[in-house]
Amino acid sequence: MPSKTPIYYKKDANRYFYSIEEFNRYIIKKVKKTINKWRMLEIDSKIAVAVSGGKDSMSLLYILEKIEREFPSELYIIHVDEGIKGYSDKNLEVVKNASRELGLPLYITSYRELFDYNIDKVANISIDERRFAPCTFCGVWRRWAINYLALKAGADRVATAHSLDDEAQTILMNILKGSLENILKLKPYPERVDNIVPRIKPFRELYEKEIALYAMLNNIPYNDIPCPYAEEGMRWDIRIWLYEQEDQRPGTLFNIVRFGERIVTQTCIHEKAKEIQRINKCSICGFPSAKSVCKAHELMLFLKKKAMK
Ligand code: SF4
Repeated sequence: MPSKTPIYYKKDANRYFYSIEEFNRYIIKKVKKTINKWRMLEIDSKIAVAVSGGKDSMSLLYILEKIEREFPSELYIIHVDEGIKGYSDKNLEVVKNASRELGLPLYITSYRELFDYNIDKVANISIDERRFAPCTFCGVWRRWAINYLALKAGADRVATAHSLDDEAQTILMNILKGSLENILKLKPYPERVDNIVPRIKPFRELYEKEIALYAMLNNIPYNDIPCPYAEEGMRWDIRIWLYEQEDQRPGTLFNIVRFGERIVTQTCIHEKAKEIQRINKCSICGFPSAKSVCKAHELMLFLKKKAMK
C-alpha cells in the first residue's frame, strides 16, 4: 500500500491515482480511446448528446464538448421529459442551464407529447393492469424518443452515457430473459439502419463510480435526486448483484461486456441480427421493428386498450 492517500484506486488494474489532473487525464484518454477503437465518430460528425440531467449524461456532455473543440463537429443536446414529479422537473432545469452555459442547441420532447402517458401516470395504474415496471415503459419510450429528437436535430450520431456497469447489466438482463436479439442490438460501433440514427456509447469502458468521481471532482452540475421508481425494475436487482461480484472479483463487468462484444462481432450472428432489424417497419411510426408495431407503440396501445375496458 503506498504511503500517500490516493484519490482513487482502480482495483481491477491495481492502479492508484493521486491528483485530479492525473485522474482527469485517465478519463479523457479512456473516452478518446473508446471512440477511436470502435470508430464512433467522424471528424465532422453531428452529435446529438442524450442528456437526462444525471451525473453520467452531464459528464458525457461536458467531456464531449471538451474533446470535440479540436474538431469541426457539431453538438446538440437532446432531452426527454419522463413526467416524474420532483425528478423530471429538476432534470429539465439542469439541462436547460447546461445548454445556456455551453451555448449548445437543445431539443426537448416528453412521453406525454409522444405517447399520451407520462411515467407517473403509468405508475398509478395497478401492477396487475400494466403488468410491467415503470422502467420498462420508460426504457422503451426513451429509446424511441431519443431517436426521434436526433432525427429532428439532423444528427448523424446519438451519444449516450451508458457506462460499463449499464452495459454489463443489460447483457445479463437479456441473458435472463433469453433474448439473443436484444444482445445483438448492443453494438459497440455505430451502425446505420433506415430511420435510426447510429448510437455511440463513449463511456462503455468506464465504471459508473469513475464517472461519478469525475463529475464530483470537476464540479459538473447534475441532478442528484434519484428517480423514485429506480428500485422497482429488474435492473436494480442485477445492479446490486453485479456490484457484489465486481467487488469480490474485480474485472467481472469487463468480462461480461467483452463476452457481449464477442457475440455481436461474430459475423454470422451479426448478419442474422441485421436481418432481424430490417424485416419490418412499425405500422405507426415507420421505424424498423421486429414486429408489425414497434415496442414503443405496442406499449402505448397496450395501455390505451386497458384504459378503454
Ligand atoms: Fe425511467 Fe426507471 Fe430510469 Fe426512472 S429509473 S428514469 S422510471 S428508467
